[in-house]
Amino acid sequence: MDAKIEEISDGVYMIDPCLFDSMGYIALYFITQPKRILFDVGPSVTAERVIHAIEGLGYKGEQIDYLFVSHVHVEHSGGISKIASWASNAKIIVSPASVRHLTDPSKMYQAYTSSYGRFASLIGDYQPLSQSSMPRVVSTLSELPLGDRRSRIIQCVGHAHHQVCLQLDGSLLGADILSTQFRINDQLLPTSTPPSFNYPKYTEDLDTALALNLDRLMVSHYGAFDNPTEIITKALDSLKWLRHQVESLLKEGLLADEVADTLLKGLNCTPPVDNEYAQIKAKLSLIGFINGVIKVRSEKV
Ligand SMILES: [Zn+2]
Repeated sequence: MDAKIEEISDGVYMIDPCLFDSMGYIALYFITQPKRILFDVGPSVTAERVIHAIEGLGYKGEQIDYLFVSHVHVEHSGGISKIASWASNAKIIVSPASVRHLTDPSKMYQAYTSSYGRFASLIGDYQPLSQSSMPRVVSTLSELPLGDRRSRIIQCVGHAHHQVCLQLDGSLLGADILSTQFRINDQLLPTSTPPSFNYPKYTEDLDTALALNLDRLMVSHYGAFDNPTEIITKALDSLKWLRHQVESLLKEGLLADEVADTLLKGLNCTPPVDNEYAQIKAKLSLIGFINGVIKVRSEKV
């Protein structure tokens, strides 16, 4: 199976590497002008597809300038070792807190495999970045040198404490700042998978993105949107709605797991993804969110 490529605008491509041989799980972005930037590399199992997709557009590995790793969660970055040896000249942009995971991903990979059951074996392994690639890792930049284009690397730590996003002019490559993939009663389910979801920071990230007055938002789960203000506002409203639901159910005496199961009954996925995986990921997000709400409540007392 090949990756699916869509040109979103001049020289900006969305690459869906068809994880689990289906579309809709994860979107990577490839920017060709004025520099060639691959935003997230995807998991190891689809690394060859991503390489073929970019070569099919006429670019060789040596021509890639930047590999931007938004954060080290497995579906975003597990293929870094393979992609970095192909893109042999590329600088590897990560947050300072991500660097140690690239050299030793074992702890993070273990956490993934214990949460995702049979899907863990379908996402491939996570090879550490080779020592010879380490000099290309850059973790201190606040922008990318792109000539006339305005670029900014923004810490968005609500989803994961080490997540960085990339603003290019009026576009934000927002990784997991929000997700449009799972909806419950038409409300967006946040990207709140444990353990690192931080409710107040997540809200702050969305407020920051809203204040940028963007004309495009590209997220990993899933796709590019030309109505970012609407989507971000929807995500903020959904947070309030979901928090209200969670607090009501907790007040009824339900445990976190029971609250999650009650809410999951209204789950919808867009685009439709494998039901079993969707159930696992959505439940994890809910558990992370519920724990986030409980933490905020206990800090208030
Ligand atoms: Zn993530």
